Order: sequence, then C-alpha cells, then structure tokens
Amino acid sequence: MTLTVSESRGEPLEVVIAGGGVAALEALLALHDLAAGRVRTRLLAPDHEFVQRPLAVAEPFDRAVVHRWPLDAIVADHGARRIRESLTAIDAEAHAVETDRGRRLTYDALLVAIGARAEAAVDGALTFDGPSSAGAVRDLLGAAEHGDVRSIAFAVPPHVTWTLPLYELALMTAARLSGVELSVVSPERAPLALFGRRASDTVTALLVDAGIRFCSGAPERKASDGLELADGRVLAADAVVAMPRLVAPDIPGLPRTPRGFVPTDLHGRVDGVADVYAAGDITWYPIKQGGIAAQQADAAAQAIAAAAGAPVVARPFRPVLRGILLTGGEARYLRWDEVATNALWQPRAKVAGRYLAPYLAESHERLLTDLTVPEDETVALGLALDAADANAAWSDYREALRWLDVAEGLAVALPESYADKRREWAGRICETPR
Ligand SMILES: Cc1cc2nc3c(=O)[nH]c(=O)nc-3n(C[C@H](O)[C@H](O)[C@H](O)COP(=O)(O)OP(=O)(O)OC[C@H]3O[C@@H](n4cnc5c(N)ncnc54)[C@H](O)[C@@H]3O)c2cc1C
Repeated sequence: MTLTVSESRGEPLEVVIAGGGVAALEALLALHDLAAGRVRTRLLAPDHEFVQRPLAVAEPFDRAVVHRWPLDAIVADHGARRIRESLTAIDAEAHAVETDRGRRLTYDALLVAIGARAEAAVDGALTFDGPSSAGAVRDLLGAAEHGDVRSIAFAVPPHVTWTLPLYELALMTAARLSGVELSVVSPERAPLALFGRRASDTVTALLVDAGIRFCSGAPERKASDGLELADGRVLAADAVVAMPRLVAPDIPGLPRTPRGFVPTDLHGRVDGVADVYAAGDITWYPIKQGGIAAQQADAAAQAIAAAAGAPVVARPFRPVLRGILLTGGEARYLRWDEVATNALWQPRAKVAGRYLAPYLAESHERLLTDLTVPEDETVALGLALDAADANAAWSDYREALRWLDVAEGLAVALPESYADKRREWAGRICETPR
C-alpha cells in the first residue's frame, strides 16, 4: 500500500535515505527544499565523508586534489539525522530496513542510493577506480619517465558507458610524457560517442593532436605481449590502465534486473515494491554518472515530496548528460552534441547535481543553471535510443527493449527504424530464453 501524508497520521513522512554519495545527498537537499516540515529524513550511511571522486583523475598529475566534506555537517545543514550504519536488508511488507548493527528502522518512504562496487574487468591491468588508484598511476608515470615503460594502453571494458575519466587520464598522460606510445581501446564506435557527433569529433581531434591512437574493440586482458582484445587482436602495450566494471550490491528485499541492477520507473519507484525508490549507480540506467545519479535523485525526491503532501509536480527523470573533460590543457565542457571551452552550466561542477553542485561550491545560487538551454527532450530521446542500441549490441535484448519503452514515453511514438528493431529484439529474446 502506498502511503501519503494524509494517510500516515498527518505527521511528517518518515523518509530513510540509504547511502552517502551523490544521489543520496542530492535527494537529501532536494527534499529539504521541497518538503521541509513535511518529511523527517534519516540518512543511513557508514562513511565519515562525502568524497568527490571525479577529480581523482587529476591527482597523479598534481593538477587537482580530491575534495572531501564531513557528512554530518551536510546532514545537519539540511535538518536531517544521520545513522552511521549500512543497509543490509529491506522488509517491504513491514516498511522496515535492517542495518549491519542489527537495528531495524521503519519508513514511510525509502530511497536506496548506495551506489555500485567497482571490480577489475581487465586482467593484469591497473584498474583506476578513484582516489585509491592515484598512487599507482603516479608510479606508472614515474616508470615511463625513467624509460621502463614505452607504451601505455587505456582500456574501457565492455558494458562500461561512462568512459570520460579514461580519456582524461590518457590526455593528461600525453601532456606529461613524451616518447611513450599511448592508445585508448574502447568498445565505443568513436571517442565519447555518448555525447553525440560534435563532441566526439572534438575529442577525436584532441586525441590526434596528443598523439593518442583510438582503437575500437573490447579489451580482455593484459598478456606479456600486450593487450588482448575479444576479437583476438593483440595491441602492443607495456602497461594497461583500465576502467572497472560496476557491480550492484545484493540487498535482500530489493529486486534486480538480469544484469543485477535495480529496476525503477522514471520517478525512481522500484518495480513491484511500494514506497521504495532507488537512484544512482545502483539502478538499471546504463550510464553510471554523477550528474545522471543526481537527476534520478531529484525525480525520486519530487515523488516523495508529493507523497508527503508538498505542492510539487513530480517530474519524470529526463536525462541531460553533462561532463567536464580535463585534457592537460584547456578543459572542455560537454553536453549532448555541444562542446565548449567556456562553461555551459554554473557552478562549473564536474558532478552537475541541481542542488548538490551549488551547495558544495558555496555558490550564492541555490540551483545549478544551464547558461545555454539544452534541448531536453531530444537529448533524452537520443540517449535512450543510443542505450537501446548499446544493449542490443551486447545481446542484452531485455534491457534494450526496456530502453525502447523509455524512448516511447519521451517521443510518444518510436521512430520507424526502432519499431523494426523492437520486433527483431523481441524475437531474439524468444530464441534465447534466460
Ligand atoms: C574516477 C571517476 C571519475 C568520475 N568522473 C565523473 C565525472 O566527471 N562526472 C560525473 O558526473 N560522474 C563521474 N564519475 C561517476 C560518479 O562518481 C558516480 O556515478 C556517482 O558517484 C554515483 O553516485 P551514487 O550516489 O549512485 O553512488 P556513490 O556516489 O558511489 O555513493 C554510494 C554511497 O553509498 C554508500 N553505501 C554503500 N553501501 C551502503 C549500504 N549498504 N548502506 C548504506 N550506504 C552504503 C557508500 O559508502 C557511498 O557513500 C566518476 C567516477 C569515478 C570513479
């Protein structure tokens, strides 16, 4: 049964947010703004600090430091309470969660925003998964400067869609080293294709100028003679730096898609579990990115605020992909089919959360603002269709069809070519049962 504030004793809605990362904090800030006094929020998170991981790519080059904020201060600023424990299970029937310390907390609405775990996906490679990998990259740069490493491949394993950090590492390495052969190996059809043609062409030109070769392919493992790709090719490389694959944690009581992530609708409501929402890397949405995580959190927070009786229109999640690419020279601001050396949004945050970015930047503006207007619906539709194609290319036809449902919701009717694809992909599911 779904509760609203009027049904729930007329008291504030008891909201539990599990997680202490981008999606959890964005939701905390959004709920405070939209429904203060109508919700009583508890943040269930084990960490001391919120760590902004995206700047970890710049640390080995001494171009930036990773910023950290005490979680308790953020929580206190937004009228909430923190419980320094981890979510271990959900009892949906009883509207209760269990924690690693054996505590049981009841909720009217629960938002699960506990992220995903990074796992090495290219055997023998240095896996770059954030601040803890900065030292290893620094050592690799040192070895290359001493002539012990003559070639480095930067590898994106299959199913990883947020590839920007790897391009940043490759470009900043090129700016630092000379006489070392550099390449990027990725299943993408073109560099950062996710951002559309214009942005991809710009990144291609940056790679060419930096002397970095782009190779489209699926890296599998680092062998003694180089990087082995799934199609049998071997790319000469003394060292390989790879992105990790993300794996969603298994929480009893939380449903999972065949790929292990949490299925939700466009308001963040978890399929088949009343009053449970999810946002961020743990969800089925294939682009695991902080800005996207924050937009999902905003949609879920609006839905929860509306359930709490706040005068809010709960808008569905409409993805707008924004990224800042560090290059070793001038940074590039990327949005769908747009690329600029001047900011496209304010504040200039790498993780473009609507509430979180201005708060962390201590900006006098309350909300992140686009300085030029992105073409919202077109962008969202383009991303949904691209995601459908990407999943079909990986033979994940169920996920591809799910994406077509999203695209249909955005465009009212699918483009003709995708109607054909929907029939074809549905047929393939019948041929290859799970
Ligand atoms: C090197 C690197 C570069 C990146 N660059 C960018 C970029 O430029 N722009 C961008 O937008 N994104 C970038 N990202 C991606 C971005 O950091 C993630 O997509 C984003 O952090 C996901 O947010 P989340 O809230 O879903 O998960 P997270 O931010 O990972 O937060 C999950 C939180 O949940 C907590 N938690 C885990 N398990 C439990 C539990 N059982 N109970 C309670 N709490 C739990 C964790 O401790 C953590 O606090 C980058 C990521 C990396 C690693």
